[in-house]
Amino acid sequence: MIVKTRFAPSPTGHLHVGNIRTALHNWMFARKMGGQFLLRLDDTDAERSKEEFVDGIRRDLGWLGLSADGEERQSGRFDVYEAGFEKLKAAGRVYPCYETAQELELKRKILLGRSKPPVYDRGALELTIEQVAAYEAEGRRPHWRFKLDHETPITWKDLVRGEQKFDASLLSDPVIRREDGSWLYMLPSAIDDVDMGITHVVRGEDHVSNTAAQVQMFEAMGASPPEFAHEALLVGKEGKLSKRLGSLGVASFREQSIEPIAVVALLARLGTSDPVEPVTGIEPLLETFDFARFSRAPARFDDEELKLINQKIVHQLDYAYVADRLPADMDEAGWHAIRPNVANISDVADWWQIASGEIEWPDLEAEDAAYIRAAHAALADMDWGDDIWKRLTGALKEATGRKGKSLFMPLRLALTGKAHGPDMGEMLPLIGRDMALDRLSEY
Ligand code: GLU
Repeated sequence: MIVKTRFAPSPTGHLHVGNIRTALHNWMFARKMGGQFLLRLDDTDAERSKEEFVDGIRRDLGWLGLSADGEERQSGRFDVYEAGFEKLKAAGRVYPCYETAQELELKRKILLGRSKPPVYDRGALELTIEQVAAYEAEGRRPHWRFKLDHETPITWKDLVRGEQKFDASLLSDPVIRREDGSWLYMLPSAIDDVDMGITHVVRGEDHVSNTAAQVQMFEAMGASPPEFAHEALLVGKEGKLSKRLGSLGVASFREQSIEPIAVVALLARLGTSDPVEPVTGIEPLLETFDFARFSRAPARFDDEELKLINQKIVHQLDYAYVADRLPADMDEAGWHAIRPNVANISDVADWWQIASGEIEWPDLEAEDAAYIRAAHAALADMDWGDDIWKRLTGALKEATGRKGKSLFMPLRLALTGKAHGPDMGEMLPLIGRDMALDRLSEY
């Protein structure tokens, strides 16, 4: 058997970190098993689906390195869904319903008021030919439900959640098609999974009850259901599915200069029993990838953890890997000197400019200028070497009685031309003795 997975976003918005995680796990499982990974665009909703989001999804997957082995679009397959629907209709597994949304809501409220589960009562199956004719004459059009088989319990062995069992009679027959003929997600997805030979459906646990109904759809179509892996959802560090998390995606990662491999390293392991590690390639992640190691508790996503992983990864990246994103005149030795000090690649330019380029000297008060002259004299007399910043500021503190900001800030300004920037303890060795003395002698 060739493993085939699919990632099936609706192009009605940008991918967020939760979708990205689902895509990643589908891709990783396919890669690990030597199988195929399909991108399926669930764009049956013509009004809400947008080409810009289709492009965005492709671009984001490309940036993450999750290349697909094929792409399908549901909007090109309406005739296939129509044929599948007709077959199920002929087999008595779909039926027309005429209730309005208000009527259904009322039925729900009555059941809930009696402390009963709000399961659809199949009232539509009781309609007489005359009643149907009367509705049609009134201009009502039917929506369509899939008729669940109440007699057979629904079971599957979920790769994350283990044995799953549902009593079909406690589920409402799902609506699969609206009055206007448009499709809800459930049936087209099941038809596609059969047609496209999907062997493993990997998605969030919010789909578990859909799966219960879809298992019966597969059977009604004469197909055996694929394997399922429903993963626990991703939540923010405060433990909720926050709005912020729902809008966090590749655009924001790029803005923060996060490396794609950092996103992959974090999302591959978050919510599993394996530790998140700052790896620079996919191989070690593929090696440990196993649905059995996924926790059933929600996975917690924390921005700070992503930044930290990114930083640890950047510190290991080879010059060749980052060269095209570094300042043009920065060589391998420069990269190795700067690398341990940056949190991300976009910090590099600032460091490099300060360490090697021209700076502009700000004006200092007369008193501070005198302090810098004293610093120049002190530095000229000192051995350059370990802890030079600490030794210099220690000596100046003693000699001048300055402390805190008045001790550090004039030095930072004179040495870097800026009021803020990287840690001076790291910066001064990069600037080097000659350039440091030169800069201090400006005052
Ligand atoms: N388009 C569906 C969604 O985004 C697909 C779910 C599935 O993977 O089957 O929720």
